Amino acid sequence: MNSQEIFEKLDRFAMPTYARQKLALVRGEGTRVWDAEGREYLDFLSGLGVNNLGHCHEAVVHAVRKQAAQLLHVSNLYYIAPQAELAQLLSENSFGGQCFFCNSGTEANEAAFKLARKFWREKGQDRFEIIAANRSFHGRTLASLSATGQPKYHQGFEPLAPGFLFVDFNDAAALRDAISDKTAAVILEPIQIEGGIYSAADEYLKQVRQICDETGVLLILDEVQTGMGRTGTLFAYEQYGIQPDIMTLAKALAGGIPIGAVVAKKEVAQVFGPGTHAATFGGNPLACSAGIAVVKEMTRPGFFENVTELSARFFEQLEEIKGKHTVIQEIRGKGLIIGLQLEAEVGNVLTPLLEDGIIAGSAGPNTLRFAPPLIVETAEIDRAVGSLDRVLSQMGATVK
Ligand code: PLP
Repeated sequence: MNSQEIFEKLDRFAMPTYARQKLALVRGEGTRVWDAEGREYLDFLSGLGVNNLGHCHEAVVHAVRKQAAQLLHVSNLYYIAPQAELAQLLSENSFGGQCFFCNSGTEANEAAFKLARKFWREKGQDRFEIIAANRSFHGRTLASLSATGQPKYHQGFEPLAPGFLFVDFNDAAALRDAISDKTAAVILEPIQIEGGIYSAADEYLKQVRQICDETGVLLILDEVQTGMGRTGTLFAYEQYGIQPDIMTLAKALAGGIPIGAVVAKKEVAQVFGPGTHAATFGGNPLACSAGIAVVKEMTRPGFFENVTELSARFFEQLEEIKGKHTVIQEIRGKGLIIGLQLEAEVGNVLTPLLEDGIIAGSAGPNTLRFAPPLIVETAEIDRAVGSLDRVLSQMGATVK
């Protein structure tokens, strides 16, 4: 099929849930992707925070091929070898917790909410409320949507699930005030990416951890998008000197194969006894084999030193062009998730970037988002920044 045929067919037979760019990508390798006519693009969005090792990483492709030829599915009524190995890798590379596997980020958060409520019910306490942050994003299923602090996503889907409260992000005093004898857990993203790429302040997560310790409230960190290396460490919480009680993962965990995971401290995890929670496809051999390859690649010596260097170069170059273009108001982010606050509609920048072969994204109407694969090359960063510089110069010229 050529691009036009793909557009027409998908528009006709799929639900119109996405504001799709007129682009049909059919092949990928590393940082590069190609459309149906063979035109090449640099993917500086990594799918949407998924292809952190780049497209079709050799180790992931090898693991998937091998597993696909051996065993695609068996039930969780039996023991699954790749699930065992991935659980061990996640546990040993995080805070020693136990894992539950599912298929997406929203599903991982649903499991985290259920786990937090069950934790308190097992203690005979009626603590069920979850406190989330304004501007947060936790997914599209009803409980995760109810925990999402952006009313625009709620519209048309009310009534939402009860028991979710909101406080301002980076305001520890507001959190402390909101906690009551009904509070089961707090859920936060270390960086609110969908909300505009706002990082938790260093002190904030430390204070939140302390408040949770004092009150017994469980701390859930949603690392669906910040996890798997995106911020320059395997998990973003590592940079804050704290540990969550529960962490949720998805997106980049299996290099492009659907997966979700919850990692919880053992005393919390143990309340999910047999029959309390389940997912037919959760922890299936194919996704877990891909996940094992991803974690092994990312935990190789030197992997994150390289990401840190790439990040420094990217931020430095963006700061340089910020000096030239007043339309860039602020640069935010960590590692290789970068947001540029623009005094312009982000669409006005995304379209010419795409025409120049650079795929970027948005995080709100005025925030340009870059999230290249962690294996991006310095020359590719230079090319993307050069392209942005040209696009902004042309915009400036048009405005004059
Ligand atoms: N949590 C965060 C922080 C996310 O960024 C996302 C998706 O963007 C989700 C949860 C939902 O993940 P999924 O789309 O896999 O359900």
